[in-house]
Amino acid sequence: MKEKVLPYNCRCGGKLVEAMISVEHLGIDFGLRKGAVCTSCGDEYISDEVWEEVEKKAKELGLFGLERKVKVRKSGDSLAITLPPDIAEFLGVKAQTLVSLLPLERGKLEIKVSE
Ligand SMILES: [Zn+2]
Repeated sequence: MKEKVLPYNCRCGGKLVEAMISVEHLGIDFGLRKGAVCTSCGDEYISDEVWEEVEKKAKELGLFGLERKVKVRKSGDSLAITLPPDIAEFLGVKAQTLVSLLPLERGKLEIKVSE
């Protein structure tokens, strides 16, 4: 594959080349999309066009703007994460709902609502 160098640089100053990037946002897999990769630091960029599509899809699914930062609190010997009301409502989670916690890697936790 011939690499196409883009006319603008990465924020690190490195060169960007066109590449197919696996796009995942808000847990939705958007597959391989055209984007750019920095030849220096390896940062990946998706085009505005693809980004718009991702946002549109997220809006359709009611996921847009649901991402939140919450603080982990101490609860006895455990740590507690609170679910903001809009996320709880979207997920169909109420007090006493059973959920599964699945650590995917360091720094990433999947929470699944048990049926
Ligand atoms: Zn870079």
